[in-house]
Amino acid sequence: MKAKLVLLPGDGIGPEVVAEAVRVMDAIAGKFKHEWTYQERLMGGCSIDQFGSSLTEETLADCQAADAVVLGAVGGPKWDDPNAKDRPERGLLALRKGLGVFANLRPVKVHPALIDSSPLKPEKLQGVDILVIRELTGGLYFGWPKGRDSKDGRERAVDTLEYYDYEIRRVMELAFKLAKSRKKKVTSVDKANVLESSRLWRQVAVQIGKANPDTALEHVLVDTAAMRLITGPAWIDVMVTENMFGDILTDEASVLAGSMGMLPSASLGEGRVGLYEPIHGSAPDIAGKGIANPIGMILSCALLLRHSLGLEQEAASIEKAVDATITADARTADLGGKLTTRQMAEEIIQRL
Ligand code: NAD
Repeated sequence: MKAKLVLLPGDGIGPEVVAEAVRVMDAIAGKFKHEWTYQERLMGGCSIDQFGSSLTEETLADCQAADAVVLGAVGGPKWDDPNAKDRPERGLLALRKGLGVFANLRPVKVHPALIDSSPLKPEKLQGVDILVIRELTGGLYFGWPKGRDSKDGRERAVDTLEYYDYEIRRVMELAFKLAKSRKKKVTSVDKANVLESSRLWRQVAVQIGKANPDTALEHVLVDTAAMRLITGPAWIDVMVTENMFGDILTDEASVLAGSMGMLPSASLGEGRVGLYEPIHGSAPDIAGKGIANPIGMILSCALLLRHSLGLEQEAASIEKAVDATITADARTADLGGKLTTRQMAEEIIQRL
């Protein structure tokens, strides 16, 4: 297979982990006789410095014309001024919008050898294998009206939680589709006892559930979901939820795996192009030291192979190599070890 990939290494440790992911992708290309071409572009803070924009129209057009986009991380203290006219995160939102990706997938697995790195008791972590799906384009972050005004001498702030039925339907259908190749169980998270938007969410979930009788559907309130992730995570298979609940719950779920550096993500939509990035940020505290854990980025490439290119065997071979590497006690600093970013990637490539 031939595929065109756009690389957006971004800021901080982004370029360090993307470089190692490319080496893994090249090893996969060699082993399975594929051919990748890479276009490397600036995005985030580095793009503000170079072009005065966190995402230029040219870069977005290149991403839209690619088979998939690989993103490291964006942001850092240099671009944190709240009054700045552009910020790295704006580029990220514009990229998601420009690619039409509406679902963020975060698989959370706990490797048996890393159980001690997690703050949870070992017995809670046995068998944890969760896929959290977060709706990306609706809800409180985008609803209108939004803003500040003052009334009778009091300052007021407004955000609007808005969802259309089609936005819920498409992410729910994706959750059921993905659940079919797993344990056939969907946990839909809402706050239907209080929020009108959640009652619509639940109504659509029930409709899609009826159309998929082979898959179990349960509804859990977001407060209960937050507790269950800590008290009984092994019991969850596919968890699907709206934008802000997902933002919070996915970070909570990431703690189970022991380090932010371990976890991948994929953002998918109706369009052709998927966006693949680790869940961590640009980690300014360790940037430039060559010690970042590249596994989240490398596993994101496995998701790219699976979801954008349909190459299941190749995806699984990366995941198996990462598993074997962890089992063999290879560890970067975040996992209590001494390996550099490059050495960790080497350990994985050797096991491909
Ligand atoms: P962060 O994820 O960058 O770092 C949190 C902690 O985890 C830090 O101690 C860091 O050293 C550690 N860490 C993260 N990734 C690691 C890895 N691969 N290996 C080893 N350790 C790792 O979150 P933060 O510090 O809150 O944010 C830093 C910057 O990143 C901010 O500017 C923020 O806006 C941005 N950010 C970007 C994204 C993104 O690009 N999608 C996501 C989150 C945060």
